[in-house]
Amino acid sequence: MKESGFIPAILKNECPRCRKGKLFRSNNPYDLKRVLDMHDACPVCNQRTELEIGFWYGTGYVSYVLAVTLSVINLTWYWLIFGITWKDNSIFHWLIVNSIILTLSMPFLLRLSRTLYLSFYVSYDPTAERRMK
Ligand SMILES: [Zn+2]
Repeated sequence: MKESGFIPAILKNECPRCRKGKLFRSNNPYDLKRVLDMHDACPVCNQRTELEIGFWYGTGYVSYVLAVTLSVINLTWYWLIFGITWKDNSIFHWLIVNSIILTLSMPFLLRLSRTLYLSFYVSYDPTAERRMK
């Protein structure tokens, strides 16, 4: 199995060290009971996922940045397609649409923020899997 590139590995929630092992036990982020159910260590290279106690608290900041970025993207396309003015309720319509999109994408963003946050601390090592064998 060939390892993924940096961005595909993050989008597929793969281990940042070997870019092959899955970080989460379930592949479906919308399996809501197991949305944050992670392996303790990467099944391929044995990289620990929770580096220290409370490590995942930092993902709140990453998740915030992702949500703001998605909101700006939503504002842009909504503005271009439907238009937003102060003269009617169009800003509230955008707020409702944005809230729905943010809520529906939350499980995906939660996982993405954990994978991104772990990748800030764990660098890619192409020999990681070989050293496990
Ligand atoms: Zn790994």
